[in-house]
Amino acid sequence: MTDDDHDLHRKPLPVSETTRRALTEPLRVERDHPNAWGDHEVVVINEVDDEVREHVVNLDALQCDCGDFVYRKRDEGKRCKHLIRALLVERYVELPWWVSVEQVANGLQADLGVTDDE
Ligand SMILES: [Zn+2]
Repeated sequence: MTDDDHDLHRKPLPVSETTRRALTEPLRVERDHPNAWGDHEVVVINEVDDEVREHVVNLDALQCDCGDFVYRKRDEGKRCKHLIRALLVERYVELPWWVSVEQVANGLQADLGVTDDE
């Protein structure tokens, strides 16, 4: 891994539709999922209505196995919503300054310990 690749892990999140979805959708990041191999992999679970989609995110390689990631070009940041969510939950990147806590998904608030439930 080069220094350049390492910087990519911590690259701030752009203001984009993908970032918005990564922050607001009810995604769940599981480290102990049977499909997650080793410390560098997590499974991001996306439950939409009754459909459950699971994607394996590799945090070392910054890769996801979803179709969006595969077709996304590197010069567009090469980060799908699953990868962004995993990077947030694993504390590689911080919540962008332009996002307020109450705007992000409840599950993400809980994962980050920033819940605003009073
Ligand atoms: Zn993905």
